[in-house]
Amino acid sequence: MSSTRDIEALIEMMAKLPGLGPRSARRAVLHLIRKRALLLTPLADMMQTVAVTARECLNCGNVGTSDICDICQSEKRANGELCVVEDVADLWAMERSGSFKGRYHVLGGTLSALDAVGPDELRIPRLIDRVATENVTEVILALNATIDGQTTAHYIADQLEGHVSLTSLAQGVPIGGELDYLDDGTITAAMRARKSL
Ligand SMILES: [Zn+2]
Repeated sequence: MSSTRDIEALIEMMAKLPGLGPRSARRAVLHLIRKRALLLTPLADMMQTVAVTARECLNCGNVGTSDICDICQSEKRANGELCVVEDVADLWAMERSGSFKGRYHVLGGTLSALDAVGPDELRIPRLIDRVATENVTEVILALNATIDGQTTAHYIADQLEGHVSLTSLAQGVPIGGELDYLDDGTITAAMRARKSL
């Protein structure tokens, strides 16, 4: 048993990753060992590098390898639009869509009375500061359509009202979605956000 201790420890560590359980972790580790030169060694090197270089952007909270991220540094992105998201994963999803050309602000979560998360635990003071100093003309609240997400959106809207134009993402029928499969909340939101043709 002790001869496989390192490998067992690796499997245990991998099983802690989101989306991987013990079974997928075992398969992944076995695959990595079999592809040592092609996958395991380069992956270990890359992890070592990122463990040292990865950091949060001091301005927006995006994750990159410099104190100020590429998006904040790019003058092309300074079009006055600021998109507020909960998490870096949401920022990356927006970037993949290619639909937004402004800058972002990552809150790092949502307000939650239950978990005692208040405005100061999130990047809300920094957001208010940015709106006042960065020539922001529109704040787009792209928060999740959950109760906490919407509570947070309302709180931010209250704080910024009168200082800047505020918008939020439309909610409704997803592309390729069939009405019969949608939940009541989605159909209600889509009906409310209907537009003329
Ligand atoms: Zn940034």
